[in-house]
Amino acid sequence: MAKIIVEGLKKSFGNNEVLKGIDMKVHEGEVVCVIGPSGSGKSTFLRCINRLDEMTGGKVIIDQKNINDPKTDINKVRENIGMVFQHFNLFPHFNVLKNIMFAPVELGKQSEAEAKQTALRLLDRVGLSDKAEAFPSQLSGGQKQRVAIARALAMNPDIMLFDEPTSALDPEMVGEVLGVMNDLAREGMTMMIVTHEMGFAREVADRVIFMDGGYIVEEGAPEDVFGNPKHERTISFLDKVL
Ligand code: ADP
Ligand code: MG
Repeated sequence: MAKIIVEGLKKSFGNNEVLKGIDMKVHEGEVVCVIGPSGSGKSTFLRCINRLDEMTGGKVIIDQKNINDPKTDINKVRENIGMVFQHFNLFPHFNVLKNIMFAPVELGKQSEAEAKQTALRLLDRVGLSDKAEAFPSQLSGGQKQRVAIARALAMNPDIMLFDEPTSALDPEMVGEVLGVMNDLAREGMTMMIVTHEMGFAREVADRVIFMDGGYIVEEGAPEDVFGNPKHERTISFLDKVL
Protein backbone atom coordinates (compact mmCIF):
# COMPACT_ATOMS: atom_id res chain seq x y z
CA MET A 1 0.00 0.00 0.00
CA ALA A 2 1.40 3.40 -1.00
CA LYS A 3 1.87 5.84 1.90
CA ILE A 4 2.15 8.83 -0.40
CA ILE A 5 0.38 9.14 -3.73
CA VAL A 6 0.89 12.23 -5.83
CA GLU A 7 -1.24 12.67 -8.93
CA GLY A 8 -0.93 15.46 -11.46
CA LEU A 9 0.45 17.81 -8.83
CA LYS A 10 0.71 21.40 -10.02
CA LYS A 11 1.84 24.49 -8.21
CA SER A 12 2.05 28.06 -9.45
CA PHE A 13 3.27 31.16 -7.69
CA GLY A 14 1.39 33.92 -9.51
CA ASN A 15 1.93 33.07 -13.16
CA ASN A 16 5.13 31.14 -12.48
CA GLU A 17 4.19 27.48 -12.81
CA VAL A 18 6.78 25.70 -10.70
CA LEU A 19 5.29 22.18 -10.66
CA LYS A 20 3.74 21.19 -13.95
CA GLY A 21 2.21 17.81 -13.21
CA ILE A 22 4.00 15.44 -10.86
CA ASP A 23 2.96 11.80 -10.51
CA MET A 24 4.62 9.65 -7.92
CA LYS A 25 4.10 7.08 -5.20
CA VAL A 26 6.10 6.29 -2.12
CA HIS A 27 5.55 2.92 -0.49
CA GLU A 28 5.85 2.14 3.18
CA GLY A 29 9.47 1.92 4.24
CA GLU A 30 10.74 3.30 0.95
CA VAL A 31 13.51 5.87 0.81
CA VAL A 32 13.18 8.24 -2.14
CA CYS A 33 15.88 10.79 -2.88
CA VAL A 34 14.94 13.80 -4.98
CA ILE A 35 17.72 15.44 -6.95
CA GLY A 36 17.79 18.20 -9.52
CA PRO A 37 19.07 21.68 -10.25
CA SER A 38 18.37 24.68 -8.07
CA GLY A 39 14.97 26.18 -8.84
CA SER A 40 13.56 22.98 -10.31
CA GLY A 41 10.78 22.85 -7.70
CA LYS A 42 12.15 20.25 -5.27
CA SER A 43 11.37 22.22 -2.11
CA THR A 44 7.97 23.24 -3.43
CA PHE A 45 7.20 19.60 -4.18
CA LEU A 46 8.10 18.54 -0.64
CA ARG A 47 6.15 21.43 0.87
CA CYS A 48 3.02 20.52 -1.12
CA ILE A 49 3.09 17.04 0.43
CA ASN A 50 2.17 18.38 3.87
CA ARG A 51 0.42 21.47 2.56
CA LEU A 52 3.02 23.95 3.75
CA ASP A 53 2.49 25.14 0.19
CA GLU A 54 -1.03 24.89 -1.23
CA MET A 55 -1.10 23.04 -4.52
CA THR A 56 -2.90 24.62 -7.44
CA GLY A 57 -3.81 21.36 -9.18
CA GLY A 58 -3.77 17.62 -8.81
CA LYS A 59 -3.89 15.70 -5.57
CA VAL A 60 -1.83 14.28 -2.76
CA ILE A 61 -3.01 11.25 -0.81
CA ILE A 62 -1.28 10.36 2.45
CA ASP A 63 -2.26 7.06 4.07
CA GLN A 64 -5.37 6.99 1.88
CA LYS A 65 -6.43 10.47 2.91
CA ASN A 66 -6.73 13.17 0.27
CA ILE A 67 -5.06 16.09 2.04
CA ASN A 68 -7.29 18.61 0.27
CA ASP A 69 -10.50 16.89 1.21
CA PRO A 70 -12.41 19.19 3.60
CA LYS A 71 -13.09 16.09 5.72
CA THR A 72 -9.37 15.50 6.19
CA ASP A 73 -7.88 17.08 9.30
CA ILE A 74 -4.59 18.32 7.85
CA ASN A 75 -3.12 18.83 11.31
CA LYS A 76 -3.66 15.14 12.05
CA VAL A 77 -1.95 14.24 8.79
CA ARG A 78 0.94 16.57 9.57
CA GLU A 79 1.45 15.03 13.00
CA ASN A 80 2.44 11.91 11.19
CA ILE A 81 4.94 13.63 8.87
CA GLY A 82 8.22 14.88 10.30
CA MET A 83 9.99 17.58 8.34
CA VAL A 84 13.61 18.64 8.53
CA PHE A 85 14.82 21.80 6.80
CA GLN A 86 18.14 23.07 5.59
CA HIS A 87 18.30 25.76 8.29
CA PHE A 88 17.26 23.62 11.29
CA ASN A 89 14.56 26.07 12.48
CA LEU A 90 15.12 25.22 16.15
CA PHE A 91 13.49 27.44 18.77
CA PRO A 92 16.46 29.60 19.83
CA HIS A 93 15.07 30.46 23.26
CA PHE A 94 14.44 26.81 24.25
CA ASN A 95 17.15 24.38 25.26
CA VAL A 96 17.57 21.14 23.32
CA LEU A 97 15.30 19.13 25.58
CA LYS A 98 12.51 21.70 25.37
CA ASN A 99 12.88 21.92 21.59
CA ILE A 100 12.22 18.20 21.34
CA MET A 101 9.49 18.08 23.99
CA PHE A 102 7.60 21.11 22.78
CA ALA A 103 5.27 19.73 20.08
CA PRO A 104 4.18 16.50 21.82
CA VAL A 105 3.44 18.39 25.04
CA GLU A 106 1.81 21.39 23.36
CA LEU A 107 -0.42 19.14 21.26
CA GLY A 108 -1.35 17.04 24.28
CA LYS A 109 0.23 13.88 22.84
CA GLN A 110 2.48 13.25 25.82
CA SER A 111 2.78 14.39 29.42
CA GLU A 112 5.87 16.43 30.34
CA ALA A 113 7.38 13.34 31.93
CA GLU A 114 6.72 11.11 28.92
CA ALA A 115 7.97 13.77 26.52
CA LYS A 116 11.16 14.15 28.52
CA GLN A 117 11.76 10.41 28.44
CA THR A 118 11.13 10.36 24.71
CA ALA A 119 13.43 13.32 24.17
CA LEU A 120 16.27 11.74 26.15
CA ARG A 121 15.88 8.50 24.23
CA LEU A 122 15.94 10.36 20.91
CA LEU A 123 18.96 12.42 21.95
CA ASP A 124 20.76 9.20 22.73
CA ARG A 125 19.77 7.87 19.34
CA VAL A 126 21.26 10.89 17.52
CA GLY A 127 24.37 10.82 19.71
CA LEU A 128 23.67 13.97 21.73
CA SER A 129 22.86 12.72 25.21
CA ASP A 130 25.24 15.27 26.71
CA LYS A 131 23.51 18.26 25.03
CA ALA A 132 20.05 18.10 26.63
CA GLU A 133 20.53 21.35 28.53
CA ALA A 134 22.39 23.22 25.77
CA PHE A 135 20.82 26.01 23.75
CA PRO A 136 20.89 25.93 19.94
CA SER A 137 23.45 28.77 19.82
CA GLN A 138 25.88 26.55 21.72
CA LEU A 139 25.72 23.76 19.13
CA SER A 140 27.53 23.13 15.87
CA GLY A 141 25.50 22.96 12.67
CA GLY A 142 25.68 19.18 12.63
CA GLN A 143 24.50 18.99 16.22
CA LYS A 144 21.63 21.41 15.52
CA GLN A 145 20.50 19.32 12.59
CA ARG A 146 20.60 16.14 14.67
CA VAL A 147 18.45 17.90 17.29
CA ALA A 148 16.07 18.94 14.51
CA ILE A 149 15.79 15.31 13.43
CA ALA A 150 15.19 14.21 17.04
CA ARG A 151 12.54 16.91 17.35
CA ALA A 152 10.77 15.69 14.22
CA LEU A 153 10.89 12.12 15.53
CA ALA A 154 9.38 13.12 18.87
CA MET A 155 5.91 13.09 17.35
CA ASN A 156 6.54 9.50 16.31
CA PRO A 157 5.86 10.17 12.61
CA ASP A 158 5.85 7.39 10.06
CA ILE A 159 6.94 9.61 7.20
CA MET A 160 9.97 11.90 7.26
CA LEU A 161 10.62 14.65 4.71
CA PHE A 162 14.08 16.17 4.47
CA ASP A 163 14.83 19.29 2.44
CA GLU A 164 18.58 19.52 1.86
CA PRO A 165 19.36 18.68 5.49
CA THR A 166 23.12 18.90 5.00
CA SER A 167 23.41 21.83 2.59
CA ALA A 168 24.07 24.42 5.30
CA LEU A 169 26.67 22.31 7.10
CA ASP A 170 30.43 22.49 7.08
CA PRO A 171 31.73 19.45 5.22
CA GLU A 172 33.07 17.74 8.33
CA MET A 173 29.57 17.69 9.84
CA VAL A 174 27.72 16.21 6.88
CA GLY A 175 28.61 12.64 7.78
CA GLU A 176 27.12 12.71 11.29
CA VAL A 177 23.75 13.89 9.94
CA LEU A 178 23.72 11.44 7.03
CA GLY A 179 24.60 8.72 9.53
CA VAL A 180 21.45 9.42 11.55
CA MET A 181 19.38 9.44 8.34
CA ASN A 182 20.94 6.18 7.26
CA ASP A 183 19.96 4.60 10.60
CA LEU A 184 16.38 5.80 10.12
CA ALA A 185 16.30 4.33 6.63
CA ARG A 186 17.53 0.98 7.91
CA GLU A 187 14.87 0.99 10.60
CA GLY A 188 12.24 1.17 7.89
CA MET A 189 11.18 4.81 8.03
CA THR A 190 9.38 6.05 4.91
CA MET A 191 11.49 8.96 3.73
CA MET A 192 11.66 11.58 1.00
CA ILE A 193 14.97 13.37 0.91
CA VAL A 194 15.90 16.32 -1.29
CA THR A 195 19.66 16.19 -1.38
CA HIS A 196 22.81 17.11 -3.24
CA GLU A 197 24.67 14.28 -1.53
CA MET A 198 24.86 11.95 -4.51
CA GLY A 199 26.97 9.37 -2.69
CA PHE A 200 24.35 9.13 0.05
CA ALA A 201 21.50 8.93 -2.47
CA ARG A 202 23.28 6.19 -4.34
CA GLU A 203 23.87 4.19 -1.19
CA VAL A 204 20.66 4.71 0.79
CA ALA A 205 17.85 5.45 -1.68
CA ASP A 206 15.53 2.76 -2.92
CA ARG A 207 14.61 5.12 -5.71
CA VAL A 208 16.02 8.35 -7.09
CA ILE A 209 13.88 11.02 -8.70
CA PHE A 210 15.48 13.61 -10.97
CA MET A 211 13.42 16.80 -11.27
CA ASP A 212 13.93 19.56 -13.75
CA GLY A 213 11.70 22.37 -14.93
CA GLY A 214 8.75 21.35 -12.75
CA TYR A 215 8.63 17.74 -13.95
CA ILE A 216 10.01 14.41 -12.88
CA VAL A 217 12.33 13.85 -15.81
CA GLU A 218 13.67 10.49 -14.75
CA GLU A 219 13.33 8.08 -11.87
CA GLY A 220 14.58 4.67 -10.99
CA ALA A 221 16.90 2.62 -8.85
CA PRO A 222 20.02 4.59 -7.90
CA GLU A 223 22.27 2.31 -9.92
CA ASP A 224 20.19 3.05 -13.02
CA VAL A 225 19.76 6.81 -12.56
CA PHE A 226 23.40 7.35 -11.60
CA GLY A 227 24.96 4.54 -13.59
CA ASN A 228 22.92 4.66 -16.75
CA PRO A 229 20.89 7.89 -16.96
CA LYS A 230 18.60 7.95 -19.98
CA HIS A 231 17.62 11.57 -20.41
CA GLU A 232 19.87 14.28 -21.75
CA ARG A 233 18.99 16.60 -18.86
CA THR A 234 19.81 13.94 -16.26
CA ILE A 235 23.12 13.24 -17.96
CA SER A 236 24.05 16.90 -18.09
CA PHE A 237 23.03 17.49 -14.44
CA LEU A 238 24.99 14.49 -13.21
CA ASP A 239 28.00 15.58 -15.28
CA LYS A 240 28.02 18.81 -13.32
CA VAL A 241 27.57 17.36 -9.83
CA LEU A 242 29.43 14.05 -9.86
P1 ADP B 1 14.40 24.02 -5.56
O1 ADP B 1 14.08 23.59 -4.17
O2 ADP B 1 14.45 22.90 -6.54
O3 ADP B 1 15.64 24.85 -5.63
P2 ADP B 1 12.06 25.67 -5.23
O4 ADP B 1 10.91 24.75 -5.07
O5 ADP B 1 12.60 26.31 -4.02
O6 ADP B 1 13.22 24.93 -6.06
O7 ADP B 1 11.66 26.85 -6.21
C1 ADP B 1 11.15 26.63 -7.50
C2 ADP B 1 10.69 27.93 -8.06
O8 ADP B 1 9.58 28.40 -7.29
C3 ADP B 1 11.71 29.04 -8.05
O9 ADP B 1 11.59 29.73 -9.27
C4 ADP B 1 11.28 29.91 -6.90
O10 ADP B 1 11.62 31.24 -7.12
C5 ADP B 1 9.77 29.72 -6.88
N1 ADP B 1 9.22 29.88 -5.54
C6 ADP B 1 9.43 29.04 -4.51
N2 ADP B 1 8.77 29.44 -3.41
C7 ADP B 1 8.13 30.58 -3.76
C8 ADP B 1 7.26 31.50 -3.07
N3 ADP B 1 6.92 31.30 -1.79
N4 ADP B 1 6.79 32.57 -3.76
C9 ADP B 1 7.11 32.75 -5.05
N5 ADP B 1 7.91 31.92 -5.76
C10 ADP B 1 8.42 30.86 -5.13
MG1 MG C 1 15.08 23.81 -2.40
